[in-house]
Amino acid sequence: MRDKYQCVSCGKKQVQLQAHHIVHQSQGGKDTIKNLITLCQQCFTLKFRETLA
Ligand SMILES: [Zn+2]
Repeated sequence: MRDKYQCVSCGKKQVQLQAHHIVHQSQGGKDTIKNLITLCQQCFTLKFRETLA
């Protein structure tokens, strides 16, 4: 992972980040930076709750 990675939602750095696929690999999403967003654990959880809601 690059050190530029930060949470795209809250901007936190140097926290444990989760790489989230915008388009899931099972749906043809590629494992590229354009298809990945990094979220801290907190935002990752919130994002998933939003997505699933
Ligand atoms: Zn965050």
